[in-house]
Amino acid sequence: MNQAEFNALCVAPSCTLRDALLRLEATARGFLMVLSEAGQLVRTLTDGDLRRARLSGLDDATLVCELPAQLPLVVHEDATASAVLESMDRHQIDHIPVLDAQGHPVDVVFRRELSQRIWLSSPHLGEEETAFVEEAFRTNWIAPLGPHVDAFEREIAAHVDVGHAAALSSGTAAIHLGLLLLGVQPGDTVFCSSLTFVGSCNPILYCNARPVFIDSEPCTWNMSPQALERAFESARQENRMPRCVVVVNLYGQSADMDALLPICERYGVSVLEDAAESLGARYKGRASGSFGHLAVYSFNGNKIITTSGGGMLVSNDAALMARARKLSTQAREGARHYEHVEMGFNYRMSNVLAGIGRGQLRVLDERVRQRRRVFERYQQALSDITDIRWMPEPEGYLTTRWLTCFTLAGEDATARCDALMRSMERHSIEVRPVWKPMHLQPLFQNAPYFPHANGFDVSRQLFETGVCLPSGSNLSEDQQDRVIAHLRRVLSQPEARRALV
Ligand SMILES: *Cc1c(COP(=O)(O)O)cnc(C)c1O
Repeated sequence: MNQAEFNALCVAPSCTLRDALLRLEATARGFLMVLSEAGQLVRTLTDGDLRRARLSGLDDATLVCELPAQLPLVVHEDATASAVLESMDRHQIDHIPVLDAQGHPVDVVFRRELSQRIWLSSPHLGEEETAFVEEAFRTNWIAPLGPHVDAFEREIAAHVDVGHAAALSSGTAAIHLGLLLLGVQPGDTVFCSSLTFVGSCNPILYCNARPVFIDSEPCTWNMSPQALERAFESARQENRMPRCVVVVNLYGQSADMDALLPICERYGVSVLEDAAESLGARYKGRASGSFGHLAVYSFNGNKIITTSGGGMLVSNDAALMARARKLSTQAREGARHYEHVEMGFNYRMSNVLAGIGRGQLRVLDERVRQRRRVFERYQQALSDITDIRWMPEPEGYLTTRWLTCFTLAGEDATARCDALMRSMERHSIEVRPVWKPMHLQPLFQNAPYFPHANGFDVSRQLFETGVCLPSGSNLSEDQQDRVIAHLRRVLSQPEARRALV
């Protein structure tokens, strides 16, 4: 419902029953809201109310304010979708006005919306996954490993133009293995982007190593080269060089590798690229995930393509990848009996899931186009709302727009973001804040942190003013229009309310 439709539901107490009936017919929502002169909700009016008024002998010229008083059923702005639904069920109604703290109606929730949830990013299968999975069943390759795993690895490696790939049980497992392969030992330091999902850095703790967090830069939202440089200088002074740097490519966009890699090279430190969110993205013509000494993709359910759960480690280093295969299958030595010299893991992907992955990989490029299209529609439809700052896509980058993200500019941005997200959730539209940076997480409260510049904490600001919108490649235009209409109403509300009174 857009603002004009919302306004059309509002009538004054001096409205006649005839006008109210005409308005009910025209708006066709089954109810109206009667507002006092101060804009407060006095009551609601339904077809039933008007019918009962007539039966009790009131004529069409009667004013709405002459009807017997009736307290409206409402919810308040902080109500969640489930609280709203509970209220509807209890009172057997299909719509409910939402009031702000001053008693002004700011919104209406309809039952229909609550049963049609719009997801942030849901799995989107193509046409070939089932055939691959059936093949696994038919040939009895249900075990971990098998022909689909081998083929999926070859196909991913070819797609991103990297020498080798190892299919694993999750992106997190891939990062853990990657850290071990790069020699991370207990007590070591590992640099990592602060603005990320915790899956990037939990594995640092698995290794009993010490994370040091690096801020983002404003133009890519990814690791700030100048903060990285300062972290290295400080590490050199303390004589405590990191074992490796985990560079994260956020929301489907590569970090600025041409700036970051030379710094790491200069200090002789390897890069583990966390490309969990950026499969399909490109940077200066090359695939995201082809820059680090090792890189990781994730096929978790909400990623751009999915195996329901899974990950992939890729690299051009053949020896390292051979070790990855060994460590991920319990580190068995080459003897017929089960001989073990070092500690291993059970981290391989199953052949059934790799079948899903092969089908998904065939639609990856299409999914990238679809996600970018979703972003472009948001951008076009909301181009007049000047407070919205979309995540930038600098020249030379091809972003998948895995998630469409923006920050709000202007005063009270944090409070407005918060109100926006609460309101979207109330309508069963799944939205999310931008990742809460790791240096602000209680889990990492003692970890050192290097901001982009002195007194300029970019990742904190992105978190405090950022929102991720429903971005799935299977989001229909109707669903997206619902999100857009909602965003417009919430973001233009102060002026809209003034227009109402
Ligand atoms: C999803 C994700 C991971 C973890 O991948 P899983 O397959 O869920 O274990 C790691 N890093 C980032 C940035 C992610 O978004």
